[in-house]
Amino acid sequence: MWRLNQSQDLSAQSLRVRRWVGSARCCFCDHDETIQHLFIECPLAKLLWRTIHIAFNINPPTSIEALFGTWLAEV
Ligand SMILES: [Zn+2]
Repeated sequence: MWRLNQSQDLSAQSLRVRRWVGSARCCFCDHDETIQHLFIECPLAKLLWRTIHIAFNINPPTSIEALFGTWLAEV
C-alpha cells in the first residue's frame, strides 16, 4: 500500500513509465491497466467487490483513496 501511495505500483501504466515493453492492457478485459482500473473499474474487480459486499456487507470502494485512504493516512 505504501508503494501504491508513492505511485510505485506494478500496474502496466507504471511499468511502461519505467520502459517496460509488455502490454499496457488489462489481461482480464483489455482495458488500459491502471491502479484505478485494477482495484475499482475492472469487471473482475467489480465482481469481487460485489461478492465481498454480499458476504460481508462491505460497500465497494469508489476510489483508491476511499479504499486505502485511512490505512495510508496512518503511515
Ligand atoms: Zn480489466
